[in-house]
Amino acid sequence: MSPIDYNALSDDAFRAQVRAFFEQHYPQELRYILRRARWSEMKDWWRTLYEQGWIAPNWPREHGGMGLDAAKMVIWLEEIERWGVARPPDQGITQVGPIIMKYGTPEQQAQYLPKTLSGEYIWCQGYSEPNAGSDLASLQTAAVPDGDHFVVNGTKIWTTMAHDSTHIYVLARTSREGKKQEGISFFLVDLKTPGITIQPIRNIAGHEEFCQVFFDNVRIHRDTLVGALNAGWTVAKALLGHERLNIGSPRRPQYALRRLEMVARNKGLFDDPGFVDRFTALKLDLEDLASLYGRFVEQVKRGEPLREDVSMLKIWAMGAWQRITELFVEIAAEEGVVPGVLDFDGVEADILSPFYYSRPGTIYGGSSEIQRNILAKYVLKLPG
Ligand SMILES: Cc1cc2nc3c(=O)[nH]c(=O)nc-3n(C[C@H](O)[C@H](O)[C@H](O)COP(=O)(O)OP(=O)(O)OC[C@H]3O[C@@H](n4cnc5c(N)ncnc54)[C@H](O)[C@@H]3O)c2cc1C
Repeated sequence: MSPIDYNALSDDAFRAQVRAFFEQHYPQELRYILRRARWSEMKDWWRTLYEQGWIAPNWPREHGGMGLDAAKMVIWLEEIERWGVARPPDQGITQVGPIIMKYGTPEQQAQYLPKTLSGEYIWCQGYSEPNAGSDLASLQTAAVPDGDHFVVNGTKIWTTMAHDSTHIYVLARTSREGKKQEGISFFLVDLKTPGITIQPIRNIAGHEEFCQVFFDNVRIHRDTLVGALNAGWTVAKALLGHERLNIGSPRRPQYALRRLEMVARNKGLFDDPGFVDRFTALKLDLEDLASLYGRFVEQVKRGEPLREDVSMLKIWAMGAWQRITELFVEIAAEEGVVPGVLDFDGVEADILSPFYYSRPGTIYGGSSEIQRNILAKYVLKLPG
């Protein structure tokens, strides 16, 4: 149990403490990196946070977390973004840890939670399959009971950082009866189990950040099942709203627009009314985004649950980010196709990385089309 109740601090005092710690301890060379950080780069920072008792801001104190309430959590995220702190492979902390706390047995909690905190267990998410993404409930990877075990066969794809992970949480089909959502179960699988193969996939930016994971007669013990058999859909759905709030933060597009503005000034583009027109439109888009984000943050701070309308935020944030990175490539002219950090008369900017990294933003975490369907159904009350 963490001895400190951070929620008892004033917001200003908490912010000052977090800010000072990041500024003092976070490695300078990893600030604002534009790709997913590898475990080899992040493990020292993980240990620093772990030793400080800060590796799991969202976990309750009795499980070794900071136990931050919603308002303090928002401050934590703002400071992460302000200092450009990269995301470690944190699915264990943000996703599966809270799931194990809510649905896991006491034995599962004792086995998995401490090692997830310490970084001994690094987790990846095994949900999507080659023919089950937006329509996740169509997944076909099967777990068939065999005595005290299940035998798993199938494949998962787009598994972020599987090659840096020790464990995967998997949705697998355990029944073909009734509605397809009702035949899915949730398992915790050690990636060293015989029969598992991990194949990295290279993305358009040339980095290997996600993988395909193959399961070939993989025997997993019954005690790796979380929640009831065939209740995996409910288990997996428990955390989706907050993910959409994080993805919808305006910081990333704001950072991209600031870089664009600096390069544009050096190129004299603010004398061009055509450019000024487009730049202003994007700046106003970000003002809209910031105020929309602020509205949802206030809702979380008041302790109110996020509803389906939070989908608006992700659509707008990712769309704006893509439009900014497109204009950046355009104004960089022939240099817009050169990878890496470039020097524009004293202003350093990487043009292509944000362009590439903004592309999948309208796909992961639920695509923009799916978010629009959600809005149409729940907000506009159109027939589903
Ligand atoms: C960078 C990145 C990281 C990822 N990491 C992970 C991970 O760690 N673990 C994991 O399990 N998955 C991961 N994913 C997968 C992600 O969840 C899926 O890509 C996403 O759910 C979309 O599924 P799909 O790729 O199969 O596309 P599809 O579902 O086949 O969609 C294709 C197109 O059709 C549209 N579409 C589909 N259904 C509808 C509909 N009903 N109405 C309107 N339009 C529709 C979609 O919007 C999209 O434009 C990752 C994806 C990306 C890009």
